[in-house]
Order: sequence, then structure tokens, then C-alpha cells
Amino acid sequence: MEYRRSKQRDTILTFLKNTRIHPTADWIYLELKKKIPNISLGTVYRNLQVLEEMGEIQKIPGENTFRYEAKIDPHYHLICEKCGTMVDFEMPHYELINKDAEKMSAFKIARHRIDFYGICSKCQNKSK
Ligand SMILES: [Zn+2]
Ligand SMILES: [Zn+2]
Repeated sequence: MEYRRSKQRDTILTFLKNTRIHPTADWIYLELKKKIPNISLGTVYRNLQVLEEMGEIQKIPGENTFRYEAKIDPHYHLICEKCGTMVDFEMPHYELINKDAEKMSAFKIARHRIDFYGICSKCQNKSK
């Protein structure tokens, strides 16, 4: 499918490429509103969906909402249970897990995701 170039979509993509926080659609909306006052939440959602279909970004299921990021190669995440921070975790990606899972299931495995939960260093320092 062909998509018409859109300035707002480009802005959203640039924004996602420049942040590491894995923001939600609401957060992206509030940030962009500072630059583009007439942007609507619906527009943000629509553009995020198109960017995802184009393979430019990925949508990550979160606790009660989705988060978005422009890093599309497989990687793991660290999530703080106190402040909700989600960061990329640069540990080796275990492709072999897919093979193991395939042996143990009737699935043709395409990919896997791992989220590690714990307390981030900022929150650890706060409680000291
Ligand atoms: Zn934290
Ligand atoms: Zn990530």
C-alpha cells in the first residue's frame, strides 16, 4: 500500500527516533501539541498505525496501554515497577529460544519478546 507523505507523520517518526522512553500515544500527543497546536489525538493514533504498517516503528503492548518506538530490530526491555520507565536492554538476543519454542509447540515461531521487571537505579536511590 502506498502512503502519501505527511508532514505530521514525519514529525511523529522523527520524534520517536529521537526519544528512548518508549512513549504512549497520549504522551506523544501532548509533546507534539507544543509544536503543532492543532494536532488531534486521533491524528496521532492514525499516523502511528500507518507508521507501524510501514514497518518504521513498533507497537509494544504495555500494562494498560501501548507504547511506541522507532527501534525495530529485536531487543529486550527493562521496565521499572515503581516509575514505569521502559528502557532498551542491550543483552544478546536469543534466537535459539524460537527453535526451542517451536519444538515444544505446534507453532511456527516468528519472534519473541522479553520484558524484565524490577526497580530502576533512580528509584533504588530514592528509597535509600
Ligand atoms: Zn523507576
Ligand atoms: Zn525498545
